[in-house]
Amino acid sequence: MPKIGVLALQGDVREHVSALVALGADVVEVRTPQDLAGIDGLVLPGGESTTMSLLLESSGLFEPIAERLAEGMAAFGTCAGMILLAGEVLDGRPDQRFFGVVDITVRRNAFGRQVDSFEAALDVEGVAAGPVDAVFIRAPFVERAGDDVDVLATVDGHPVLCRQGNVLVAAFHPELSQDLRIHDLFVGGL
Ligand code: GLN
Repeated sequence: MPKIGVLALQGDVREHVSALVALGADVVEVRTPQDLAGIDGLVLPGGESTTMSLLLESSGLFEPIAERLAEGMAAFGTCAGMILLAGEVLDGRPDQRFFGVVDITVRRNAFGRQVDSFEAALDVEGVAAGPVDAVFIRAPFVERAGDDVDVLATVDGHPVLCRQGNVLVAAFHPELSQDLRIHDLFVGGL
């Protein structure tokens, strides 16, 4: 079974842990650099990317995670987690840090504010058995995706699920629906 870390500084950590446990993964919550030892992949949850950026610095986790990602560790980011893995962030805070391992430009809160949160039935490339119920909460979308990025799903023409190598990013929250198929896309690839 793959050992998967869930970045547990802020955001919907518990929901990701439940989904990963349901898929049979060995899960560890990551709060300190030591917690990264031996993990095959890291999940970066939804929450608030600017807050997570600050907590990544104060916990001393930013550099060790950046190193593991540079060495090829797999990662799965949802919503704020997608922002943290992107190469370029629009409408971010000027001091906000991100890992830059997926060649995408994301715009924060691109679908609007909290009141503009919505659910959509998404057709996802590589996911069989019908559309995926996707929850969007102050979600980003992808304004530009590089040539090495596979776009797996879109909303109104905007990419919302992308993969580059072993890094998967979703603008929505698969951890908030009971559907495990997006987590399985990640876990199944490890
Ligand atoms: N808008 C948030 C951010 O910029 C992300 C929202 C979410 O993760 N639900 O981090």
